[in-house]
Amino acid sequence: MLNENTNSYNIEFIRSQFPALNVRVWNKRLSYLDSAASMQKPKVVLDNIQENYSSSYSNVHRGLHYLSEKATESYENSRIKVANFINANENEIIFTSGATAAINLVAYSWGNQNLNKNDEIILTIAEHHANFVPWQYIAKSKGAKIKVVHYNPDEDFDLSKIKGLITNKTKLITFPHVSNVLGTVFPVKEICSLAKQVGAVTLVDGCQGAIHFKVDVKELGCDFYCFSGHKLYGPTGIGVLYGSINLTSAMPPFMCGGDMIDVVKINETTYADPPLRFEAGTPPIVQAIALGKAIDWVNEIGLENIEKHEKKVLSYGIDKLNSIKGVKIFGKNKNKAGVISFTMDCAHAHDIATIVDREGVAVRAGHHCAQPLLDAFNIVSTTRASVGAYSDFDDFDQLANALTKVKKIFGAL
Ligand code: PLP
Repeated sequence: MLNENTNSYNIEFIRSQFPALNVRVWNKRLSYLDSAASMQKPKVVLDNIQENYSSSYSNVHRGLHYLSEKATESYENSRIKVANFINANENEIIFTSGATAAINLVAYSWGNQNLNKNDEIILTIAEHHANFVPWQYIAKSKGAKIKVVHYNPDEDFDLSKIKGLITNKTKLITFPHVSNVLGTVFPVKEICSLAKQVGAVTLVDGCQGAIHFKVDVKELGCDFYCFSGHKLYGPTGIGVLYGSINLTSAMPPFMCGGDMIDVVKINETTYADPPLRFEAGTPPIVQAIALGKAIDWVNEIGLENIEKHEKKVLSYGIDKLNSIKGVKIFGKNKNKAGVISFTMDCAHAHDIATIVDREGVAVRAGHHCAQPLLDAFNIVSTTRASVGAYSDFDDFDQLANALTKVKKIFGAL
């Protein structure tokens, strides 16, 4: 999907793969700037879902017939694709229903087993609620303490902020790979290395990371890494938890039922090895297979090409928004990816999102499931524009024109 002659990014061709980008919104061109919430899907993924239900569908792992074996092979093949995608071993990839389910799995299984009174969990002020509330909940029930790393949203993340909080009671350090509000890219490798010095476990919320750049969990040195399929051009209902086999093989199940057992007797059950120990019940079969297809699609373009393209578009968007008087970008850090959050002097984020929608622009407005972060900076909401492989300069031109309209409506022009 790169231009053969110039090796340049063929944005028209890439966009043409996404049927949803042709939807007319209020009879206008769609400028889809809500990719951080969920990516649109390329046609190969949509076709794969249809094909799977039409000609290769059955339940997995249990059947001995043709279709069940075919579905099992595709499902397990997808696990291998995911493992290769983040340089993990196959038995370290647990399919879940999404990142939220993956984090809850770690909190309930690892957390319940390993956290004790006065143990410390370090997390950041930039956490999505999905990686904040489960830890708050488990910490309360175990008498563990949560320590929050604060940092300046206009600067790159300062490692010393986390260093200062680590003690020999630190059992877990968890943080986003990329903040879904500020776009801050966290120094994953360095944080994991600090955690190792005190024997703390690390969980990286990779929802906004693995979708923008190459992830190598072995190189990063994290114990857990998770992301959602729907943010990686795949379907909803599927997510991934990478868990180092050293940890997961000692962890108890989170959910119990079919497929996660070894032997069940009236008085006792033994469990399957990971990953199946953590995949009780019928899994999201077609979704997992379609995620494999989405990964094929991403690999074909090359995540490094997507990263370069998105950086250009994001930087164009930042310049465009900075040129509008009254727009304030929240999070001026340089090392950022995927998102631009902003406020406007003249209007509330919800009004901005509603007005720009009428101009065909899809943005997100509100607290972005990061209330502690917004509280810390004394704001209640921002408007967020976010990009994917298919985003282009026109999307931001359209947003900038729509923001001029916002200013006119609110008498700021
Ligand atoms: N973590 C981050 C950083 C996110 O951006 C999101 C979703 O927006 C989540 C976690 C939760 O993902 P999901 O709702 O797919 O489980």
